[in-house]
Amino acid sequence: MTVSDIVGEAMDIHKLYRDKKERYEKILGLLRRVGLNSEHANRYPHEFSGGQRQRVGIARALAVDPEFIVCDEPVSALDVSIQAQVINMFEELQKDLGLTYLFIAHDLSVVNHISDRIGVMYLGHLVEVADAEELIFHSVHPYTVSLISAVPIADPVLARKSERKILKGDEPSPLNPPSGCTFRTRCPYAKKRCAEAAPELREVSPGHFCACYHL
Ligand code: SF4
Repeated sequence: MTVSDIVGEAMDIHKLYRDKKERYEKILGLLRRVGLNSEHANRYPHEFSGGQRQRVGIARALAVDPEFIVCDEPVSALDVSIQAQVINMFEELQKDLGLTYLFIAHDLSVVNHISDRIGVMYLGHLVEVADAEELIFHSVHPYTVSLISAVPIADPVLARKSERKILKGDEPSPLNPPSGCTFRTRCPYAKKRCAEAAPELREVSPGHFCACYHL
């Protein structure tokens, strides 16, 4: 499909235009919004770089005037300089269009940069949720603490002072997760109780939730 048809497909399904002219104008408007132009409309995805293809995907998501967008690893396949461009674009679109994102990513620096609120998952379970700053500076779940300690620090003096919390073992298969708390096979604080039933998320400070018996 051409970029024009990719971006226009959801508009076709939801009948979001009166005639072909309006459809084409809307598509061009969406391409401009994500930093592409009318020349790109009739090209095919293989003619674009990874960053441009992400822009096409974002234009396609915007085609139905959403309020909420699920962004599943939107920048993980891009190199760092392109990541920064795409993330800046996400932020500008959010401001201009009043969007809410559910942003799924593995790179904690990216997550911290873009998020108002962060949820940490382990083996498909939410183990900790808090506002971004609270979670980064006051994390309490042993898995989150270990994740945050693994983020590289640019300042060599601070890096030498920081303590890396390395987890033992490998992540179990999600097809055959451990009983009780799924983190217990790698947790330094695991007790008998942790194998018996999964801990529920509970509020440990205002707006900060954690699923762990150790607290
Ligand atoms: S519930 Fe137990 S095993 Fe799970 S994170 Fe807390 S202390 Fe560790």
